This record gives sequence, structure tokens and C-alpha cells, in this order.
Amino acid sequence: MMTLPLVLRGDVRPFIIIGGGRVASRKVQTLVKAGASVTVIAEQADAVIHTLAHEQWLTLEQRRATPEENFPPGALVVLATDDAILNESLAHRARAQRCLVCRTDQTDDNDFIFPAVIDRSPLLVSVSTSGTSPALTRYVRQRLEAFLPQDYSRLALFAEKLRSRVKAMIPAVERAAFWRQWLSSRAPELILARQPERADEETEACLEGESRRGEVWLVGAGPGDPDLLTFRALRLIQSADVVYYDRLVGPGIMELIDPAAEQYYVGKQKSNHSVPQENINQLLVNSALEGKRVLRLKGGDPFIFGRGGEEIEELARTGISFQVVPGITAASGCAAYAGIPLTHRDYAQSVRFVTGHLKNGTCDLPWDELAHAGQTLVIYMGLSGIHHICEQLIISGMAADTPVALIEKGTLPDQKVHVKTLATMPDYVAETAIQAPTLTIVGGVVNLHKKLSWR
Ligand code: SAH
Repeated sequence: MMTLPLVLRGDVRPFIIIGGGRVASRKVQTLVKAGASVTVIAEQADAVIHTLAHEQWLTLEQRRATPEENFPPGALVVLATDDAILNESLAHRARAQRCLVCRTDQTDDNDFIFPAVIDRSPLLVSVSTSGTSPALTRYVRQRLEAFLPQDYSRLALFAEKLRSRVKAMIPAVERAAFWRQWLSSRAPELILARQPERADEETEACLEGESRRGEVWLVGAGPGDPDLLTFRALRLIQSADVVYYDRLVGPGIMELIDPAAEQYYVGKQKSNHSVPQENINQLLVNSALEGKRVLRLKGGDPFIFGRGGEEIEELARTGISFQVVPGITAASGCAAYAGIPLTHRDYAQSVRFVTGHLKNGTCDLPWDELAHAGQTLVIYMGLSGIHHICEQLIISGMAADTPVALIEKGTLPDQKVHVKTLATMPDYVAETAIQAPTLTIVGGVVNLHKKLSWR
């Protein structure tokens, strides 16, 4: 069937719905929402239709429709009774009276159909498989639904308000270029990030024809599996001009970056800082000053052992605008994918994240505080110090048979979970080839891995 999607004003033509069951009711609700003038003809109508009739959103004629109905000229008629013969004859009659017909019991006898709609009013996205597969329509709609933030409504309203000013200030031939520039400016992201004053400022700058100002997005990429990105992270990853990324950003995530964007690796290898932190801070500033949208992409969450704070301090000092997008930190990602709940009413009432990164061969952690019953310990960057860490925890009073999990390449396809105890883990690590990154979890909850592991 050939179809053409058009957007119809809800209030210009009368809609007549024949039938009052579940299917009819869904169509009626869609129509009422669109401000349509609706008449329902049904002997029995569901509760929603009754309520809408009672509140005068529609007219309900409570009677059985006959094959001799007369339809108002130009009406759109939805046939939703469970009587196929009646639907058939009403379809003929309505068409004879120059009405358009939608039959809910047929896929190939429709003058119009209802697409699935993603409603971010005034922005509407409609999805249709031309009546061939409602299931596929729903599936696609759900996927798009997840991809279009609810806040697109506000973005659309902002653009709507801006339209008259653009018309007044910008000659017709330049308007398309203006909108392109505005949509790729910082303004839309600022609206989505709920910073309307700054969005206004940015918009003014666009209206004045100022060139684009740069900004930095400090984005958490999660522990590796691209499916664990946030929607905002994905959106920003896809719209950056230049990307500075770390070693821990998974390959699947790098593929999402626009190939046209400049990409620079500024990751660190342990004890071999390839780009010193001060230089990274400066690179971010310089790129933003060139008017670029700069993506600083970090593994996990930027504010958990990520030096995110240091990087934006420099930006704040130089007055460059930035936003921070949280990511799933390695502790949450690895724990979930290893089936180790970080807290559990029977084993741990608190959880503590520490870094096992040793300075000059010593580890200055407050061991007494860490060796607590009822507390899960998550150690980032702890592989090379594992011997020292296990030893100190035992000396500080933790049972030598306390379970320890070492999660290698957490959330990635080749994730491995090694479970030992404080007493046995150091030798095990010394004898086993283990690849970075690894995360260590210590505490009673680790025993749950056997029962709750799911991948
Ligand atoms: N900001 C990051 C942590 C950076 S520190 C976050 O929030 O996750 C780097 C350490 O994180 C690594 O040494 C390792 O201990 C841990 N880590 C990060 N990704 C990991 C992964 N996929 N699997 C296991 N550990 C990981």
C-alpha cells in the first residue's frame, strides 16, 4: 500500500468514530489530545469515552450505528466496531458521501491510518509501516522514544518563540543558514541542560551574527559496554568537533564519535603519564577558545577517580562554559555485571570506594577504617598493590578468609571474575595473567557472585 504521511490540523474536519471498545477508545484519546472535534456512535462505550463525553471533549451518541448512517461532508470516519459486515457497508457509504475512512479491522482498506506518535509537543515524530506491521511500528517508536529526550518539548517551544524575532531581524534568504547555525550552537544543549538564561545569551549572540563560542563537555563513558552510556552522553559524543579521550574509553564507544571530529588520545598508562594533566587542562581550554565543541571523554564517571574536578577548575578559571555528564562508575558497572550487589541487608550496610594506587611504593590508606565488618570495599587501580592491600587488611583485623573478587575488563565482552580470599588472592594474582583494567571488591557480598552471576 502506498501512503503519504501528512500532518493534519485536529480541528478542521469532524471525526466520526463508530464503535466504543478498546480500539475505538485509543483512537478517540489520540484525537481529543489533538483538539479534534469528535463524535462517537456506539451502543456501549468504555469508561474513558464516557468520561470524555461527560467533560464535553466529545459528543457521544449512545446507539447502534446502522448501515444507513449519514456522515457530515468531508468527515474522517473511523470504523471500529467488531462487526466486519457493518464496517464494510459503512465504509462504502462513507466514501459515497466523500468521507475518508479508517478501518481498524483491515490493513488494506484504509484511506488514512493513525501512525504511532512520539509526542514532544509541539514536536511530533510519527512512525508508520503503512499499516503492514503494528508490532514493528511500536518497536521503532519505543526505540525513538528512548532517543528523544522529553525535554525536546522545551527545545521546540523555545524555537517557536524565537521564530518571530528571526523573521523580524534576519532577511528571508539568510534564515535557513541562521537556523542551521543556531541548532549547532550551544543554545539547544543549554536548553536541554535547563540553563535558559545562558541559552538566551547564546541565542542573542547568534542573532547578532557573532561567531560560535566554544565549550567543553566532560562526559563519563561508563566502564566499557556502550549500552551503559547515558542518552546525553551519546548525544554529545555524536556532536563534538574535537575529542580528547582516555585509555579506559571502550572501543565500542569510540565508534560512536563522528569520524569527521578530531580525536586525540590523552590517556595515562600507569607510571607513564603520556600527556601531563596540566597539558590536558590547557588543550581543553585552547580548543574551546577556537570556538570548538570539545568532548572530554573519560572512562566511568568523571568525578570518581577521574580528575574531572581538576580539568573543569581550569575551565571555570578561564570562564569557558562547560557541562559535566555523569557516567556509570566501574564499581557499579563491574558489580552489576559480576552479580555482586555492593550492599545487601545480610552482608553490607555501607560501601566505600578507595584508590589502591601506590605512591612511591607505599599506600597511605586508613586501614583501620577499611577493615570494618558490614562494609564493602571497592578498590580502584589496585592490581599492582594487591599484595600490600590484602596484607594490610588482615593486619588491621579483617578475617583472612574474607572473600575478594577481582573483576577483569568489567562489562566488556571478555570480562572475567576471579574470586579468592584476602589470604589467597596475592599469590593467585602473581601466578595468573590478568589484564587491566581490574577492579577489586572485598567483603561478604562477594560470596553472592556464585548465586547471582548472570553473564
Ligand atoms: N573514573 C573511572 C575510574 C578511573 S580510575 C570510573 O568512574 O570508573 C581507573 C580504574 O578504574 C582502573 O584502574 C580500574 O580499577 C577501574 N576500572 C575502570 N574501568 C574498568 C573496567 N571496565 N573493569 C574493571 N575496572 C575498571
